[in-house]
Amino acid sequence: MISLLKIIFTIAVVYGVWFAFKYRARIVAAHKVVMDEKKRAATAEAASRTPGTPLAQDLAPCPKCGSYIAAGTRCSCEKA
Ligand SMILES: [Zn+2]
Repeated sequence: MISLLKIIFTIAVVYGVWFAFKYRARIVAAHKVVMDEKKRAATAEAASRTPGTPLAQDLAPCPKCGSYIAAGTRCSCEKA
């Protein structure tokens, strides 16, 4: 009777390990899909960016008040 329980328990453990492995493989596959999607989105974003467009805006000091403003734009002190 004890040996039968041992066999059932062993089968249950083996089945559990197999099921966990199968489930793990599914999680890894799903994770890979998500990561590929992220990577593709990042690549598309980088490609859509116009070449030559500066990532940072150049700043120039205002000749009137000296505060730094985006180059080529009018300072707020001139609008007043
Ligand atoms: Zn100014």
